[in-house]
Amino acid sequence: MIEFGCIVSAAGQGERLGSGIPKALVPIAGTPMLVHALRTVAAHPAIRSIAVVAPPGHLDQVRQMTATIDTEIPLVIVAGGAQRSDSVRAGLAALPAGSTGVLVHDAARPFAPYDVFDRVITQVSVDVPAVIPGLPVVDTIKQVDESDTVLATPARANLRAIQTPQGFTRDVLSRALAQPGADATDDAALVERLGLPVQVVAGHPNAFKITTPTDLLIAEDLVARAVDPGARTHGHRE
Ligand code: C5P
Repeated sequence: MIEFGCIVSAAGQGERLGSGIPKALVPIAGTPMLVHALRTVAAHPAIRSIAVVAPPGHLDQVRQMTATIDTEIPLVIVAGGAQRSDSVRAGLAALPAGSTGVLVHDAARPFAPYDVFDRVITQVSVDVPAVIPGLPVVDTIKQVDESDTVLATPARANLRAIQTPQGFTRDVLSRALAQPGADATDDAALVERLGLPVQVVAGHPNAFKITTPTDLLIAEDLVARAVDPGARTHGHRE
């Protein structure tokens, strides 16, 4: 039985959002993005520990925010690094040794539904050490060179847009992050570099990443219209 710890990476500056504060601390309907994300994580019974990777210089603020979350799961807060992988490394080091499975989740995906967590958690095993949620892409994707001249058009049917939470055995994630020069926009890419299998499971549109001001408007709208955009309580907490 794998016991999961969850790293919530929240240390990015989020410059594309243009809010002037780190993205994870930006409020959506009056509640910081990070707190929305943590409410789903903290409600999942398979998650036994949480490491929040906070923007350096905002640790006290994050401590105050997390104090508002009603949970008995041990939660630690550590400072992030310059690159995303540095932040994930810091989060991994803060998880207790008993966490033999690790989820890595972006605070910037505050409405990733509970069901996506389930699908990832139930698939991770020694034989399938990396499981990531993804959706078929709706746009045609072009590969381009530095001057934006098209080089290739990969078959759309074979492409997936990857989300978080991503799930790993701790052993494999540690090895992936220990590779020289290990940095990537997603952690699974580092597992691929080890030559190990990575399995995609169904993601969800609500697990979209908040990146631009338009995404923030969509997020506000989602909270305003939905009783629970993360569907946290649906069939799981009775
Ligand atoms: O920049 P981007 O939106 O791709 O970042 C994805 C997630 O990684 C965000 O939740 C962000 O806070 C986190 N991150 C981090 N440390 C960094 C860069 C990004 O924790 N140095």
